[in-house]
Amino acid sequence: MTGRPVAKGRVARRVDLLSLGTGHEALPLLVLTADRPGPCVAVTANVHGDEVTGLAAVHALDRILTAELTCGCVVLVPSLNPRGLMMQRRVQPDDGLDLNRAFPGDPDGQGAARIAGTVWRGLMQRSLDVLVDLHADSAVAIPYAIVDRSIRLSRPEREAMDTRLVGIAEASGLTVLREYPDDLYLRFRLDQSLAGAMVNHGKVPAVTLEVGPRRAVSGESVRTTVTAVLRILHHMGNVAQPPAGALPRLQGGPWRRAAAPRVRTAGVFVPSRDPGATFRSGEALGEVRGVDGTVREVVRADADGLVVSWSENAWIDARGVPGTLGLCGR
Ligand SMILES: [Zn+2]
Repeated sequence: MTGRPVAKGRVARRVDLLSLGTGHEALPLLVLTADRPGPCVAVTANVHGDEVTGLAAVHALDRILTAELTCGCVVLVPSLNPRGLMMQRRVQPDDGLDLNRAFPGDPDGQGAARIAGTVWRGLMQRSLDVLVDLHADSAVAIPYAIVDRSIRLSRPEREAMDTRLVGIAEASGLTVLREYPDDLYLRFRLDQSLAGAMVNHGKVPAVTLEVGPRRAVSGESVRTTVTAVLRILHHMGNVAQPPAGALPRLQGGPWRRAAAPRVRTAGVFVPSRDPGATFRSGEALGEVRGVDGTVREVVRADADGLVVSWSENAWIDARGVPGTLGLCGR
């Protein structure tokens, strides 16, 4: 499964193929190794098949790091869900399950569990120091980094992990959001996301970056992702120089991820605040309108916070969630 190393400057680059079994194309892992020892960082993308920003960012990182990696190794995984990519589907198409709720998975299982288990084994064999998983929230969103809840660790371990995760997330230069509170974190099975499982089951620090529109490769979003990852690699010591260029980090916080209030009526959701705008409890976030422009409902905040993203679907059904907020507090 291992290709022959090709020396290019001081960085060896090889492509390892991770076999997912019959009927599946093998997943390419681009492994860059500097000639000096150092931390090993994995950068994974496209676990949600319709989120393509991270994939193009990984391709750019491959080229940059072949010249810039000064120590340790970086494992780049352009797509964890190539079938979902080809079908423009979030889920793993074989069984329609969310691959990002299937970790650590089971290499002897079926569908998403099998893929997750094989990926998990392939990554854990590499003694990772950190994993960065690349996602895309919406075309109408701030870029942000997510800190998982290390709920399955013992208390002292949890405190140490939390400090590590916040440090890595802040090093990205993006706005930092903590995940949903513990009860929702468990209910949404976020400990079985790739980053959540790394933190909770593998005890490997992992952060998720959410940047860009889902379905199109936006140059600006790719550059933001690449800068954020390079900043993390500089924080880890893998690259000597921090990347040029400031990132649009919002001051304030801490914030925690929360769903925007559900709407009561179906219609066209028109936000009244842009991503990044802050609000106080009771203030309007947007309106649900009929096609004729009639305001059916004003959607109001039920706590203080900031707008993170609005859904890419303007039409919203009754009881639907129009977007994601960052609420004040941990
Ligand atoms: Zn995603």
